[in-house]
Amino acid sequence: MRAFGYARPESLEEAIGLLEEHGSEAMLLAGGTDLMLGLRGGWSKPRIVVDLKRVRELASGIEESDAGLTVSAATVMTDITEDRRMQQRFPALVEAAVVVGSVQIRNRATLAGNICNCSPAADTAPPLMVYGAVVIAAGPAGTRRIPVEEFMVGPGKTALAAAELVAAIEVPFPPEPYGAAYLRHTRRKGTDLASVTLACGVDASGTTRLAYGSMGPRPFLEIDGTGVLADPKVPDEAKAPLFETIFAKASPSPTSMRSGPEYRLAMLRVLGARALRTAIERLAEGGSK
Ligand SMILES: Cc1cc2nc3c(=O)[nH]c(=O)nc-3n(C[C@H](O)[C@H](O)[C@H](O)COP(=O)(O)OP(=O)(O)OC[C@H]3O[C@@H](n4cnc5c(N)ncnc54)[C@H](O)[C@@H]3O)c2cc1C
Repeated sequence: MRAFGYARPESLEEAIGLLEEHGSEAMLLAGGTDLMLGLRGGWSKPRIVVDLKRVRELASGIEESDAGLTVSAATVMTDITEDRRMQQRFPALVEAAVVVGSVQIRNRATLAGNICNCSPAADTAPPLMVYGAVVIAAGPAGTRRIPVEEFMVGPGKTALAAAELVAAIEVPFPPEPYGAAYLRHTRRKGTDLASVTLACGVDASGTTRLAYGSMGPRPFLEIDGTGVLADPKVPDEAKAPLFETIFAKASPSPTSMRSGPEYRLAMLRVLGARALRTAIERLAEGGSK
């Protein structure tokens, strides 16, 4: 491991100032569950690590407003899975957060870090996209809002500008009632990164939002407004062509150690149909309110 400096700012202004001062030589540390691997493995080589854990404005918390829930940058997966409002209104996000790593990882890993790391397999990315989540980025010029599907640009690459960081993630309440589900496929039970991730959400007007990951450089969000996918009376065979359009961007790596592209594409279709069925069932049962 290469030697690096360490800073522990206590305010957002101080943290942004450090990013301005050190530019691309600085790396942010939240839970460290990704960053530490990079430091040890030698593929992350910062001159300085800026630890966000003591920044007042980013302190762990989930705030409720009329519009939705706002998750601050230091909030970890366990905070998400244990929050009753999250369980009631955003069950697909809870289903994703609860499968991240292990208990130990979930006690450290932040929601913000999961999308900032920008792995195509990040579990929370598909449900955040389905729920229309927005990243609140803070930088020298103030704050700006970036939809999650635009935020994740490619492996390890976000839409953050120089000296910007993620201050929070806003998750708007979906229309009521709403049925949503998250599924993933892994090589084995237990701790593993997913070879397919998929979330699906259906509202009473017949709009289906479906997001999938581990199938290319970044997760993708697709929206079906025809009402066909959301219609429980339409048979699966009639929905298959729509799924093919939705999955058109899927291009799993032929060299991945996780599984071959044909298998992953087959599993994507299986999980797509399964998550859609669950979302429709949940909507019929009254959905999340
Ligand atoms: C054993 C193990 C198992 C895992 N299993 C899974 C899994 O099943 N599913 C899954 O999705 N992930 C998994 N992960 C990956 C990891 O736990 C998650 O991506 C985690 O959510 C990252 O959050 P963190 O707070 O630890 O981020 P960190 O490691 O602190 O940071 C990750 C990256 O994001 C940047 N960053 C962090 N916070 C901010 C911010 N506020 N603004 C801007 N940039 C920021 C950092 O600079 C770094 O580049 C696993 C990791 C390990 C070690």
